[in-house]
Amino acid sequence: MSLLQVIDAPASGCGAKPQASGLSVLNVLDSPRDSLADSRVPERKRRLPAWLKRPLPAAGMAFTDEVIRDLDLVTVCESAKCPNRTECWSHKTATLMIAGNVCTRPCGFCSVPKGKTEALQLDEPARVAEAAKRLGLEHVVLTSVTRDDLPDGGAAHWAACVVAVREACDEGVTIEVLTPDFRGNVRAIDAVIDSRPDVFNHNTETVPRLYHRVRRNADYQRTLDLLARVKRRAPDMPTKSGLMLGLGETREELLDTCADLRAVGCEMLTLGQYLQPTGQHLPVERYVPPEEFDEVGELMRGLGFGLVASGPFVRSSYHAGEMKDVLTANRSA
Ligand code: SF4
Repeated sequence: MSLLQVIDAPASGCGAKPQASGLSVLNVLDSPRDSLADSRVPERKRRLPAWLKRPLPAAGMAFTDEVIRDLDLVTVCESAKCPNRTECWSHKTATLMIAGNVCTRPCGFCSVPKGKTEALQLDEPARVAEAAKRLGLEHVVLTSVTRDDLPDGGAAHWAACVVAVREACDEGVTIEVLTPDFRGNVRAIDAVIDSRPDVFNHNTETVPRLYHRVRRNADYQRTLDLLARVKRRAPDMPTKSGLMLGLGETREELLDTCADLRAVGCEMLTLGQYLQPTGQHLPVERYVPPEEFDEVGELMRGLGFGLVASGPFVRSSYHAGEMKDVLTANRSA
């Protein structure tokens, strides 16, 4: 079974279940939809398409939940109201979010709290490493809020977390970082690269025309420059990026953006459906049908990405270990 088959089968034997709460769109958009032609979403109270419905959550998340609470850690799974949380947590997989739970950027798609940040917790790297060990993670995905309030954007803290996980976990454990843009500060970016994660992920999120609405205070060129920097400094380190579909982008814009990513050497791509986390966030412009995700994924493979995961529930950290494994296998074949 290919990676995409795994990812695109949300209710399959891999135990896909929806999260218990938090995805407000599920509450307002609650009936099956009919046709592809109906996939535009001109009003907020539009029906949720059938392919975005998932079964009610079942038990199985308790262990992950206990570890996270016991070690007083934050996950993007909860903060970003990820629809895959039940599935991932049932499989003892979570994406730890370091450097606090308050972000300095006002992105219109993201439900991570914004506002006054807190001081970095110096024992967080050790707690993150302990969580990775207790959960038995074979592929550890770390992310963070954007810390524009810190001179290095939190890069030294990032590096400390990568090193702590590396030291605490078994040799075969791999680490993926999903970083902010560090405002383009190359010393900060280099500090994270030099901590030697196995995959360097930085999300593009959307096409450049929509940046002002979706990613205020971010810069498209800065995102490309960051990914290019990783490839220059560590050519053997796979780079990865992701975009949300359904925010109003056109097919041409999507292709152009992904071609830009390939031009800076990006090897791994994730494409998933944007879901409005609360009524205060950007509305969904369109629900992209699964077959269209398949089609777009094929187009992106044609651009030369080593690995593409494309589907309604794909998120940058969803089945990330499998993506990394496939890429490694392809390289050594
Ligand atoms: S897809 Fe990523 S963010 Fe979402 S629940 Fe899974 S690990 Fe967490």
